[in-house]
Amino acid sequence: MNSQQTVRNLDELQFDNQFTRNLPADEEAKNFRRQVTGACYSRVLPTKVARPQLVAYSKEVADLLDLSADTVKSDEFAAVFAGNQVLAGMDPFAMCYGGHQFGNWAGQLGDGRAINLGEVRNSRGEHWALQLKGAGPTPYSRTADGLAVLRSSVREFLCSEAMYHLGVPTTRALSLVLTGEQVERDMFYDGNPRHEPGAVVCRVAPSFLRFGNYQICAARGDLETLRTLVDFTIRTEFSHLGEPSRAVYLSWFEEVCRRTADMIVHWMRVGFVHGVMNTDNMSVLGLTIDYGPYGWLEDYDPNWTPNTTDATGRRYRFGNQPQIALWNLVQFANALYPLIEDAEPLQQALDVYVDHFEQGSRTMMSEKLGLNSFQPETDIKLIEEIQEVLQLVETDMTIFFRKLSLLESEGESSADIDEAALLAPLMEAYYEPEKVVGEVRTRILAWIHSYRNRLRDEQSSDVVRREKMNRVNPKYVLRNYLSQLAIDKAEEGDFTLVNELLEVLRRPYDEQPDQEQHAGKRPDWARSRAGCSMLSCSS
Ligand code: AMP
Ligand code: MG
Repeated sequence: MNSQQTVRNLDELQFDNQFTRNLPADEEAKNFRRQVTGACYSRVLPTKVARPQLVAYSKEVADLLDLSADTVKSDEFAAVFAGNQVLAGMDPFAMCYGGHQFGNWAGQLGDGRAINLGEVRNSRGEHWALQLKGAGPTPYSRTADGLAVLRSSVREFLCSEAMYHLGVPTTRALSLVLTGEQVERDMFYDGNPRHEPGAVVCRVAPSFLRFGNYQICAARGDLETLRTLVDFTIRTEFSHLGEPSRAVYLSWFEEVCRRTADMIVHWMRVGFVHGVMNTDNMSVLGLTIDYGPYGWLEDYDPNWTPNTTDATGRRYRFGNQPQIALWNLVQFANALYPLIEDAEPLQQALDVYVDHFEQGSRTMMSEKLGLNSFQPETDIKLIEEIQEVLQLVETDMTIFFRKLSLLESEGESSADIDEAALLAPLMEAYYEPEKVVGEVRTRILAWIHSYRNRLRDEQSSDVVRREKMNRVNPKYVLRNYLSQLAIDKAEEGDFTLVNELLEVLRRPYDEQPDQEQHAGKRPDWARSRAGCSMLSCSS
């Protein structure tokens, strides 16, 4: 970017507000909770706060918006991105959407605490929507306050950027700003509220449209708004599919199915558990959106969910995410049905999700194992078996796959090699290495032998394989306890760890020898501490 393109003053940002310009607005201008019909959004201004203070920002996202570091560090920036000042060209609004929450239709939800500021057109002609999360109530706030606390804002800010650098499709986070105000939260809904620092994150994405935006129109039988919104989405975000028509609606839905499958494959690759895969939290662009009670698998347990609100049914557990995405796509298909009036082609697109996920998942797993290609005769079994082996004893998923690249395959044949030496690189992944004995040890070794044989058949070079594996098996992920440590410090006013983690997570696939302390197993104290393994929707 040359200096001419750098925005020195926020007033130089160019806004091109396609959403508000093209879609029907709520006619009511006052900000009070209500049902909003016949409209895609309501104009609403952020609530002013006491003392905006920028505590972290993403330089990559600032770059997307042509913002220089000096501009980001200005008082004006903190004022704008806390919601205290609206720039000329912005047109703030909250979106109307509905959704299925935990399997049940919940009616109108909407941006209860997100306020879209406007859409920036950057110097490269790209289009980026800016959205404040936690900037005060909107018509969609229902019984809640429209605010966000520091704890959840740190989590959203860090995880959005960590996911981006891992190569996972996601909304982005520009800034984390303290409001200087306190917000009351009952973290576990157990009658023990406390005051927490308030904060606002500015999220950035081409669009924040969710399955729920379409569902609410269909649920209300408002086909005119539904069609307007679908046509708008295709024209702005899927223009490569052509001018909207019935056939294009179908190819659009199929593309949403494919993008969703890709996103879920990535989640499964890095061990991410979203935690609240309600249809209002599913982006139509296939981006990870709404970082609430998400978590990272430490112990490889497909039944794990970090969300205490979902503890009994475990609907959104790690291993169920592919099925839930499909269920959500079915609800989305139902919403689009009135525009298609034929279930068959919608079903075909849903089948594309299943195939695309299956294909993607196999490729992903073979890449995690460093195989040159997926060979069904051998690899289906190899992959199934590793998933079982990982569950025999508490095994750290991230460390296991990272260390697996160290296994030597070129030397002696498995029969001649010392078994302790074969296992050695992996021992670090075990939470209780003393349990890797007897039958457990035998099964792990049996898998290693078949894996090694598979590599030897492929005549794979260890050096090349290691390099390839290290590009898909991250060394650094946002372990649950790491964000909690950063939050503990941040609540004391110290943001060094937030910024340190942001920096480490910019290069998740690099070794970074001076950052080993952030690559280790979850410490014992974090096993059952709130925020580390248990999170609620309260944020
Ligand atoms: P989530 O579970 O975060 O996806 O939120 C579900 C719905 O509740 C969305 O419509 C949110 O906008 C709304 N919501 C969550 N927290 C708040 C809050 N503190 N104030 C207003 N609305 C909220
Ligand atoms: Mg949400």
